[in-house]
Amino acid sequence: ERPLLMIPGPIEISDAVRQAASGPPPGHLAPSLIAAFGLALRRMRHVWLSGASSQPLVVSGSGTLAMEIAVLNTMQPGDRALVLHTGYFSARMADMLARRSVNVDVVRAPFGQAPETSEVESAIARAKEEKRPFKALFVTHVDTSTGVLADARALCGVARANGLLSIVDGVCATGAERFEMEAWGADVYLTASQKAIGLPPGLALLVFSERALQARARLEVAPPLSADLDAWLPIMRAYEAGQPSYFATPATPLIAALAVGLGEILGAEGAAEPAGAEAAERAMNARFALHERAAKAMRAAWAALGLALVPARESITAHTLSAIQYPAGVDVSAVARITAQGVIVAGGLDPENKAKYFRVGHMGYSATQPAHLLRTIRAVTLGLGRSEDEARTAQRAAESLL
Ligand code: PMP
Repeated sequence: ERPLLMIPGPIEISDAVRQAASGPPPGHLAPSLIAAFGLALRRMRHVWLSGASSQPLVVSGSGTLAMEIAVLNTMQPGDRALVLHTGYFSARMADMLARRSVNVDVVRAPFGQAPETSEVESAIARAKEEKRPFKALFVTHVDTSTGVLADARALCGVARANGLLSIVDGVCATGAERFEMEAWGADVYLTASQKAIGLPPGLALLVFSERALQARARLEVAPPLSADLDAWLPIMRAYEAGQPSYFATPATPLIAALAVGLGEILGAEGAAEPAGAEAAERAMNARFALHERAAKAMRAAWAALGLALVPARESITAHTLSAIQYPAGVDVSAVARITAQGVIVAGGLDPENKAKYFRVGHMGYSATQPAHLLRTIRAVTLGLGRSEDEARTAQRAAESLL
């Protein structure tokens, strides 16, 4: 049996997505590709719950490129930004901003914790008093290195109330954790194809609010050409209008798969066009609930085994992965033993704490497959040196919640 890929991305994908991505690559001007691209962009607005005036962008690349595109199109040298630090990927965002010669302040919390929203409010107020206000707040929705979930709704609200742009890295969250881009007033929500969207790696996916588009229009220092919204906007608009266009060759097999993957998330039949905002809300509510259910089931299994998570409390625990502390007497060698049981999980990623925990992804297609989740629980149990009996008990704890 092929091992299951249960790391926090890339992950298992559905047969329909795999089929859509396989075969001879379509040309970027093929009518079928143009149709799939337009449909994918319209479906992104629904998965992002971002409203009709928002602008989706699909570019070949990984999540890191999506982060870079967000930074380069909203910020320029001399601007000020506030970064909420919840782990390794927030640190990467701060690094990118510094390389754009942006002045960065960071609100941080110890490993496994999240800063309070009130600390963000105070930092914003202080900067205003100093007459050097922040232009934007950067948040990692789920920091994959710690499994910490940020209160994106509250943080986007604080940003909006204070006139800051809010830019949220949803690489380990989009399409799984509740995020209502329009209702919450977020300005950029970005992800990559290989996580909860359910595709192979290879696409950077972003949606911009009208305010974010205006921020690009006002920049005096343009982004590098390949990352510039000004270069890409006419292309995205052409695809939505069903017109051929070219700026840089898209990953055509992945575009075809994207339309299919987003359709699965929305419960759409075939190439059906999105059926309006209410239908999108219904579909996304079901999608968020699915991930909550899967996460609670996995946590019940970990609790049955007496395992502790990295996130300090439930309200900041992601639903897309479990970051699990090694129990006493178990070290990083457990990851290889779990893999030997036929399920691939990931080690820790936080530079200072990576020897203390491991990570199990349960998002996207995996969250829809109870059998995959139960197989994972068994492999983890045995890999940690526990018995088949304990594995069955942990599986039963999860199964009752699935
Ligand atoms: N942000 C977060 C929250 C991530 O989890 C990741 C990848 N694990 C990235 C950014 C970077 O994405 P990529 O590895 O696709 O460049």
